[in-house]
Amino acid sequence: MGMLDNIKEKMTEIIFPRRCPLCGALINSNERICSKCSRDVEFIRRPVCRICGRPLYSCHCRKGQYAFVRNVSPLIYTKAAKKGIHRMKFNDSPYSCTYFGKLMANAVRTEYLDSGIRFDCVIGIPMFKDDVLTRGYNQAVLLAKTVADEIEVPLLTKVLIKQIRNKPQHTLSHMERQRNIKGVFRVARPEMVHGKTVLLCDDVTTSGSTLNECALTLLDAGARAVYCVTATVAVLSEMPAIKAAAFGNGRL
Ligand SMILES: [Zn+2]
Ligand SMILES: [Zn+2]
Repeated sequence: MGMLDNIKEKMTEIIFPRRCPLCGALINSNERICSKCSRDVEFIRRPVCRICGRPLYSCHCRKGQYAFVRNVSPLIYTKAAKKGIHRMKFNDSPYSCTYFGKLMANAVRTEYLDSGIRFDCVIGIPMFKDDVLTRGYNQAVLLAKTVADEIEVPLLTKVLIKQIRNKPQHTLSHMERQRNIKGVFRVARPEMVHGKTVLLCDDVTTSGSTLNECALTLLDAGARAVYCVTATVAVLSEMPAIKAAAFGNGRL
């Protein structure tokens, strides 16, 4: 880097100071996240469930439970990651989107692309249109865009549509979540997904009901297969609304 570039970079840092994508604290140019968040953030380590993407200690899924083939996530939805997701949702924080999106793309590379799985398109879990207008953006679509750019696969928007404004899933019990999400999505242009292998993106997986319903909707519209990647996945201790008992019979 030339001296001029160096000065330019320093000036940019003064005008637009770098912030931790998770908590928003100021960070140095050589740091990706702040030191507190790097202690707190929990990456998902093997062994991992090859269906839901949770660490095996927290997986209660069974074969055939989900319409999607598999989900992968880089992070556990806890502490630092939770803060970052919150920033992305409510603070319009593009650097948080980039941080999560790049981690998601890495997970897609190692878990899918390296095994020879190829995608025709990337889709973010849609929000109801009035909600997008209120917030100004849909963070799942922003994540999907980063992933799509990173793996060089087209991003499809306005194809999978949320046609009903349902209650927020996190406010409901496990059984209510499944009922609450039924029939909420539709595919506006089935020809765009017909015969395609789709990569679905979202910020958090809790019960997996939303990903599952989107996958069902896409498969009904003729998609060949649906795979998922989410920035974070909730483990049992982070899901107080879902009673441990609900997992006993494998009904997640
Ligand atoms: Zn931080
Ligand atoms: Zn599982």
